[in-house]
Amino acid sequence: MIKSNKFYCSLAVMLLLRVSLCWAQALPSPKEHFGFDIGDDYQLTTYTQAEAYFKKLAAASDRVKLVDIGLTEEGRHQYMLVVSSPENIKNIARYKDISQRLARAENLTEEQARTMASEGKAVVWIDGGLHATETVGAHQLIETIWQLVSRTDQETLRILDHDIILLAHANPDGQELVSNWYMRERKPEKRSLDNLPRLYQKYVGHDNNRDFYMMNMKESQNISRQLFVEWMPQIMYNHHQRGPAGSVLAGPPYRDPFNYVYDPLLVTSIDAVGAAMNNRLNAEGKPGYTQRAGSQFSTWWNGGLRTTPYFHNMVGLLTEIIGGPTPEDVPLVPQRLIPNGATPNPVTPQKWHFRQSIDYSVSLNYAVLDYAARYSDELLYNIYRMGKNSIEHGSKDYWGLSPKHIDAINSAHAKDEAKEAKSDESESSGGDFAFGRGSGIPAKYFDAVLKDPALRDPRGYIIPADQPDFPTAVAFVNALIKSGILVHKATSGFTVADKKYPAGSYIVQTKQAFRPHVLDMFEPQEHPNDFQYEGGPPIRPYDAAGWTLAYQMGVQFDRILDGFEGPFQRVPYGELQSPKGHLTAAASSTAGYVLDTRANNSFIAVNDLLQAGAEVYRMQQAGAEQGSFFVPATDKIKALIEKAAADYGLEITGVAQRPAGASTKVSPMRIALWDTYGGSIPSGWVRWLMEQYHFPIQLIYPQDIDAGNLREKYDVILFVTRAIPPVKSQDNSRGREAKELNPKELPAEYRSQLGRITAEKSIPQLKSFMEAGGTVVTIGSSTNLAYHLDLPVRNALVEMTSAGKEQPLPATKYYIPGSILRVNYDNMQPATWGMPAKGDVYFDNSPVFKVSPDAIAKGDVKPLAWFSTNKPLRSGWAWGQEYLQDGVAAFMAPVGSGKFYAFGPEITFRGQSHGTFKLLFNQLYSTSGISQTMRQ
Ligand SMILES: [Zn+2]
Repeated sequence: MIKSNKFYCSLAVMLLLRVSLCWAQALPSPKEHFGFDIGDDYQLTTYTQAEAYFKKLAAASDRVKLVDIGLTEEGRHQYMLVVSSPENIKNIARYKDISQRLARAENLTEEQARTMASEGKAVVWIDGGLHATETVGAHQLIETIWQLVSRTDQETLRILDHDIILLAHANPDGQELVSNWYMRERKPEKRSLDNLPRLYQKYVGHDNNRDFYMMNMKESQNISRQLFVEWMPQIMYNHHQRGPAGSVLAGPPYRDPFNYVYDPLLVTSIDAVGAAMNNRLNAEGKPGYTQRAGSQFSTWWNGGLRTTPYFHNMVGLLTEIIGGPTPEDVPLVPQRLIPNGATPNPVTPQKWHFRQSIDYSVSLNYAVLDYAARYSDELLYNIYRMGKNSIEHGSKDYWGLSPKHIDAINSAHAKDEAKEAKSDESESSGGDFAFGRGSGIPAKYFDAVLKDPALRDPRGYIIPADQPDFPTAVAFVNALIKSGILVHKATSGFTVADKKYPAGSYIVQTKQAFRPHVLDMFEPQEHPNDFQYEGGPPIRPYDAAGWTLAYQMGVQFDRILDGFEGPFQRVPYGELQSPKGHLTAAASSTAGYVLDTRANNSFIAVNDLLQAGAEVYRMQQAGAEQGSFFVPATDKIKALIEKAAADYGLEITGVAQRPAGASTKVSPMRIALWDTYGGSIPSGWVRWLMEQYHFPIQLIYPQDIDAGNLREKYDVILFVTRAIPPVKSQDNSRGREAKELNPKELPAEYRSQLGRITAEKSIPQLKSFMEAGGTVVTIGSSTNLAYHLDLPVRNALVEMTSAGKEQPLPATKYYIPGSILRVNYDNMQPATWGMPAKGDVYFDNSPVFKVSPDAIAKGDVKPLAWFSTNKPLRSGWAWGQEYLQDGVAAFMAPVGSGKFYAFGPEITFRGQSHGTFKLLFNQLYSTSGISQTMRQ
């Protein structure tokens, strides 16, 4: 297609000898294609229109290679345009190879690296449209592509000569939805982005920028493959909105804390590119750029489109700019008008038009591209240097600097000081403003900690193949592989540090370029104590404080501190793994099959079996197999079981006799999941999860709940966080009430989704539902329902005021932003079957309960999970964690003949917390069926 167009074009050139006319016809401007200029007030393009434009430009220009990077969740084609000089485009495979090899830094000498860096071209990724209501994103992408493809000025040509530019659309589905919504009003002045009826990324909306180490969504997989497996750009630039009030945009460099696993060269490279961006705007007379403490963005967290690249030695850039198709005002924020290091060139109050944001964005893109063109050899060499540093650190004893080590040094010193009972204040009391002029403390304390062999960084990790939920461990390994991590697989059994491991175990060594990402996925994050001032309130992290994926997924692994080798076969980069399941036959004739409840995939298999009409039981007998599934054998079942073992990597056992002891017949439930107009993100994650695990569900909206008769339609109703409001007396949510919408202004199909859960109308219906035998499962803040129901539980996180009044603990005493904590489970309950005795939960200032011993004794409340120590923190930041001791994290309470479940922690967190999915799954089968004892 591309070829034939060019052929006709050259033919036309020869025949007419009118080159300019030919190219003018072949390269349509945005105005010619869309009917308006990008950035015109009140005009947005849909993705359908943009996609057609990308194809036209690619067909007409020899500066472009159009790449389909995969399908979206809604089934659209997601495109990336590779733009460079025609000469570079011809040699694109060579430049991609150089970029890959330097980023992986394997088997290259210093000299080879230098030579390749000077031969190569800087690879720069620019995306747009990730958050679709941030409409500047997708539109600056279109305008930037047009300018790069059509301009013939010296700077553009130099950029095209030295850079390979990857221009990727981050969320096609979202642009289609948002642009159609905005443009549905004929009158331009009436157009608005407000009140979008559903999420702009199927299932997860804004959380599409929270998915980049897990990659649950297809778009995240498509993008990550280009970033971490295919291209390894040295710089990537992720466009967002909005700038903080009184600025035009926030950009790099960002505020602390940055993550201790980064190479320092990465952090200073962000500074350098940030300076080039800010500098260019000032040279062009474009004020309003704010950086560092001028905005909330930090470089701590992994998981964003911009931030996961940091853990791969890539310079990640994010800008948040103001503007949109409807003109707006830059407000007067007096404190922003004093120039300082964060905002050197403040913007003054004025009317702001869409085109200004587009022009700013193109300038910023050009600043980055110009920097890359000028320093292409340095960028290519530096990513090699960072990769090489990682390989070196992972090949020897190495101690990364972190607060844990520094605290250990300080406490060792303080202990000795106390022993000597000496108080020479001139020594060591440098304080914050001494700037290192104090005399320091003896170096032996450094050696005692940062040369302690027990405190070395691991040389690698082993994921044994014989763990109870190996398919989930393989899902974890696949998350690493999708992120470009080098993984090995054992071809036979082996021994490391006196421990035997079976064939099929996975090995992840740290002697690899993307070592920071490896450490981050296995090791705890140690967020520093970050307060506004000493004794003051905490500074909220930009996103999570701790997220260690291996902990969230409940993966069993060993940290290996010494170098180790074995019969390890390299998994080719990007090649996803699927666990081999087995059906172990019974010794004699088969009575049935046992599926281990500890394996999450057993629930998929059971749901398939139930769908096919199989009988399934859960074994109640205490012991290792408690809660496991038993499926009586029939001719039809055997084939299904074999398929389940193969498809889901399950170890299924054929048994000659039905297992001893009581068992409960498993029946599917009619499951309803709460959602709201516009779409709840946590609900969307659960909907996605239910699809992955083959639980059929229906969405339920507040109007459905208020209408009553719930028990006739449903067996279980799920409420994710932020569904159930607080009871009035405890309401300190400061009136974040849902805006009342006028149904008449909305498309008819969405009107039934309006409304919210109220104490007056909805709660009595939920109570009747449970009294009639229904089950309600609540997660996070929706455990508020316990207080509406007057259950004998109380908030555990309170203190008494001097006036003798109970009040929630203030943030100066207790503050736990998104982090991983350890709980104990009562895993003898059907609700917790398959859970370990202790496990990790994702906690985000989550509710914690106090239950009276009396209520427990009477069976009014059954605790399912609790904090058994005063140090439950596993990863992240837990200020005042000692307040958690003995607090109840999850419980069940009978209500009438039904059940109420409360899970304080985020047990389905962003589709990542596989280690706690069973806490939901277990509540989704009917246990009110036949309970029978099967004895031999
Ligand atoms: Zn955004």
